[in-house]
Amino acid sequence: MDLYRLRCINCPGTYCWNEDSRETETPGPPCPGCTKILNARTAAGDRATAIGILRPDVQLYDEQDPRADSVSAIARHDRSLRPNVLLIMGTSLKTHGVRDLVKDIARVIHNRQAGKVVLVNLTKPAKSWDGVIYYWVEWDCDAWVRDLMGRQPALVTDESSEEQR
Ligand SMILES: [Zn+2]
Repeated sequence: MDLYRLRCINCPGTYCWNEDSRETETPGPPCPGCTKILNARTAAGDRATAIGILRPDVQLYDEQDPRADSVSAIARHDRSLRPNVLLIMGTSLKTHGVRDLVKDIARVIHNRQAGKVVLVNLTKPAKSWDGVIYYWVEWDCDAWVRDLMGRQPALVTDESSEEQR
């Protein structure tokens, strides 16, 4: 999910901004996937279906995450590994899904004696996170990662670059 992709409001399709003059179409360019289905149905004499418009592929507050099923499968897997550190970065923790996910995994961390829950974000977490988040790193995420890469390069080794060696 990012600002560089567009997502259809009607079907699961995601697309690039820079194809088919999408950048200049307002209010929202029509979805090529929905258009293809409609054209095929029309040609076959079937009932017409809706064409969704494309919007930035980001999740707004109180929106359901379209990939909620994949996220919960990943979270279930991560919980089963019994992690002892949860690193939360670049979120205000106000989105419903993110809030639940963090609390869910933090519960696993809290059950471990030496577990740590760390938030890296410029904004201080709300009082309601006391007892959930142990450490708040008041820093820009990118700057923090660059600093970490300098101090602990082995932690952030890119697997693809390792294969090339
Ligand atoms: Zn669509």
